[in-house]
Amino acid sequence: MFSTMQDVPLTVARILAHGSTVHGRSTVTSWDGTGPVVRSYAEVGARAAQLAHALRDELGVTGDQRVATLMWNNAEHLEAYLAVPSMGAVLHTLNLRLPAQQLAYIVNHAADHVVVVNGSVLPLLAGVLGQLADTLRHIVVSGEGDRSLLDGFAGTVHEYEDLIAGRPTDYPWPALDEQRAAALCYTSGTTGDPKGVVYSHRSVYLHCLQVMAADSFGLTSRDTALPVVPMFHVNAWGVPHTAFMSGANLLMPDRHLQPKPLAEMIDRVRPTVSAAVPTIWTGLLDELDAGSYDTSSLRMVVIGGSACPPALMKAFEDRHGIDVVHAWGMTETSPLGTFSLPPGGLTAEEEWPYRLTQGLFPASVEARLIGPGGERMPHDGRAAGELEVRGPWIAGAYFGGAGRDPERPEDKFSEDGWLRTGDVGTITADGYLTLTDRAKDVIKSGGEWISSVELENHLMAHPQVAEAAVVAVPDEKWGERPLATVVLRPGATADLRELRAFLAERVASWQLPERWSIVEAVPKTSVGKFDKKVIRADYAADRLA
Ligand code: ADP
Repeated sequence: MFSTMQDVPLTVARILAHGSTVHGRSTVTSWDGTGPVVRSYAEVGARAAQLAHALRDELGVTGDQRVATLMWNNAEHLEAYLAVPSMGAVLHTLNLRLPAQQLAYIVNHAADHVVVVNGSVLPLLAGVLGQLADTLRHIVVSGEGDRSLLDGFAGTVHEYEDLIAGRPTDYPWPALDEQRAAALCYTSGTTGDPKGVVYSHRSVYLHCLQVMAADSFGLTSRDTALPVVPMFHVNAWGVPHTAFMSGANLLMPDRHLQPKPLAEMIDRVRPTVSAAVPTIWTGLLDELDAGSYDTSSLRMVVIGGSACPPALMKAFEDRHGIDVVHAWGMTETSPLGTFSLPPGGLTAEEEWPYRLTQGLFPASVEARLIGPGGERMPHDGRAAGELEVRGPWIAGAYFGGAGRDPERPEDKFSEDGWLRTGDVGTITADGYLTLTDRAKDVIKSGGEWISSVELENHLMAHPQVAEAAVVAVPDEKWGERPLATVVLRPGATADLRELRAFLAERVASWQLPERWSIVEAVPKTSVGKFDKKVIRADYAADRLA
């Protein structure tokens, strides 16, 4: 028999209505470079309604059309986050660090009708105008910037504030099917063309509940969340929507993502929770070590997007008393896949082995490991396989149907509909995931596999090493061997011989790289991860010393 429960759709409009009334006094603080600019959630809700009116009445946005954002983390971006899906259109967050060609590809592929852009990003948009299809009809500019850069645009240019001014501050949000598209985000395209992941209202809503869960970020109205992770990187890991649902205040760094302004805003606005990729925290750690900042407000810093070096986690805790939590996810997983909190009843020392893993899957994310022959691998903490997941906020296909063809190498879904993550690892009997590497980054040396992440983690534990990235390079005898690229800290005296000896004490001799290079900086992807493709290309072209 069926239940007797009401069938009420889970929608972003509900999150908006709840946040702007029940949590109307909570605030979003945007950092403008010198200090905080504060707006209440009640105001954000009113302005989101005004934006929806403008988009519908003035720009002709109808249900299903894509409204893109090319914006930093700030209050206006939050307004678009809430208004666009709630009115039944689709929010498409554009990555403002993408190369121009990829940006144009994505805008055209998604057939974006409108782009809302921060004035400071206009040079980027202006640079691709010539490559954009005429599906793009409107550009809405928010904040300072040179509008004349858009002179060549064939559509209409609008001012964000003028566009919304004087419009009604409530909106008849339509009743939507919870399975309708709410937001669209493209993978950063490290392999082939970027692919679009389309989140539903239901997936966004359920994902928010998970971000609120105590065994996760645990966001409540007593928190202030600082998403350093950009709002174009998998919806800032769900933090903005969840803040509105939970009433947590938001501290938005806008374009001030450098260590110094970040340290200053933490000191002054006192966030309780923050989230970003490891490279951001590496920079911030140096700033905190050098300066005098009060970071005591932070109850949790979430690190994900790449494996978090254990040395980084320990340094934050030992030197600044900041609790770092490791999490794993992907664009395709909304992104929350795992969260690494240790079980109860352990001493701090006993907790470490758990905290260094990628963590536990929540009930809504099922996981399995698949071996090289397609067989299921046991969850015994030893047997490794490719991680596959499924659940209500996990993608089952890409926008436009890419990735389903079993004949094509980029196929990302199993026959029975699970997402193939491309990540290789183990799962313990009590459910903790440890990723050894991305399948495409593992170094296949002779018959053995070497984890690039393991070598990096050891190297980054050396006190004179700032960053280390290890990649596979072709080798006549072994097929592939590791190449270690290392960034030394300022004033470091260590040389390669010392680093090699340091590593030799920690890994088997056959895993030790023969090829080394000291570099000024490790190249980073558009979302701040080590760009191993670039390192491999630099090596192939003899650009590494
Ligand atoms: P991109 O593939 O362009 O980096 P995503 O942000 O979707 O875009 O990246 C997802 C991938 O990032 C995962 O498949 C995994 O390889 C890596 N990743 C994310 N979090 C972690 C983590 N905590 N540890 C190790 N790898 C991680």
